[in-house]
Parts: sequence; structure tokens; C-alpha cells
Amino acid sequence: MGKILFLLIVGLVFYVGWKLAARAAGARRNPAAPREAERMVACRQCGVHLPISESVEAGGDRFCSDEHKRMFVR
Ligand SMILES: [Zn+2]
Repeated sequence: MGKILFLLIVGLVFYVGWKLAARAAGARRNPAAPREAERMVACRQCGVHLPISESVEAGGDRFCSDEHKRMFVR
């Protein structure tokens, strides 16, 4: 009985350790990759550069915020 319990605990420790290692490796790889590939755009109103996913689009122009979209006059 004691031996089975010991084996179960050893197995559990290996399983949890492997899971944590896999998660740590994934966390290191995943957030960096899409951010590096993301295109940067400049706000037409103030010229600040930001990732395209965070920008506001209006008539082919990109803005850093809704406020600057409203402020911009062609
Ligand atoms: Zn702006």
C-alpha cells in the first residue's frame, strides 16, 4: 500500500512539473510572436506610433484614439 502511494505521488509530481514547464515554455513563446509581427501605424492627428490592432480606422486613415479621429480634419 505504501509503495503504491509513493509511486502515485512521484507520478503526480512529475505530471505537475511537466505541466508547469510546458506552460512556462508556452508563455515565453506565445505573447512575443504575434506582437513582433504586428504592423505599426502612425496616428494621423498626433503622429504617435501604435500597433494596428490598437488603432482606430476611419476612411483609410489610422488614429491612436476615437478622440483624435474626431479631431482630424482633412
Ligand atoms: Zn493621436
